[in-house]
Amino acid sequence: MKQLLILSGKGGTGKTTLAGAFIKLAKAKAYADCDVDAPNLHLVMEQSVAPKRTDYYGLPKAVINTDQCLQCDLCRQNCRFEAINVNHEYKVDYYSCEGCGVCEIICPENAISLKPAVAGELVLYADETVFSTARLKMGSGTSGMLVTEVKKQMNLVAKDAELAIIDGSPGIGCPVIASLSGVDMVLIVAEPSISGISDMERIIKTAEQFQTRVAVCINKYDTNLVNTEKIESFCKKINLPVAGRIPFDSNAVKAINSALSIIDIDCTSGRAAREVFAKTVEFLFSKS
Ligand code: SF4
Ligand code: SF4
Repeated sequence: MKQLLILSGKGGTGKTTLAGAFIKLAKAKAYADCDVDAPNLHLVMEQSVAPKRTDYYGLPKAVINTDQCLQCDLCRQNCRFEAINVNHEYKVDYYSCEGCGVCEIICPENAISLKPAVAGELVLYADETVFSTARLKMGSGTSGMLVTEVKKQMNLVAKDAELAIIDGSPGIGCPVIASLSGVDMVLIVAEPSISGISDMERIIKTAEQFQTRVAVCINKYDTNLVNTEKIESFCKKINLPVAGRIPFDSNAVKAINSALSIIDIDCTSGRAAREVFAKTVEFLFSKS
């Protein structure tokens, strides 16, 4: 299975819109939303089956049995995450606890134990196509591990799919690093703004660490032609292919607000997305 990951250095570049268009154009039998902090690919990809939901357990959390606690204060003094509060009795702050287990070891009364904690849910839609996604619970810090589970879930169920399209997270944090592992190609959606160029350069550097193919496409290119040309020259300088330009298109917003993809309607961005898709597939399946 070839895996194409779509990334952007920041949110709001149109990454998910393009991912949705690509999934439809490819008639992809497998796809995933790895933006576990704010998944929204399901909003543009209509599903015909009910999802299977599975609790995802991240880091365990410490729990104090107040009946056994003699208030010696050792746990509070040794918790480097300042997760233990005292207000008449000793309590662990759920959101601050990193599950390191120091307090459990140090407590002379064995009053502390680590308990499994639900950090989110994995969601799987599976009929003739497989769509794997997840949602991280507020305050849970294991987004990278959850992304790995999303991909694992997709790979297990869609073993025979020729192509998988993955919508990644914005930025360069843990979920992006986790989504990069094992993919065949990364398409970076860049915006022609000063911050867009800087974010693009950072995500290119990150993707290159994984020795995967990288290509760039420029969304809303006509909002700043000078910067669009800067992006193209930069890519040329470092031998990175440019898969194309997509214009700003108010019809794209209308399509998204009606839960449609830009390729479901006749619009300039949809036509450009088709060309970018064809180029991307050419790069993905080419030998060199
Ligand atoms: S280390 Fe144990 S006994 Fe001491 S305050 Fe903490 S929970 Fe209570
Ligand atoms: S498990 Fe670690 S982070 Fe959590 S309360 Fe205990 S010492 Fe603090």
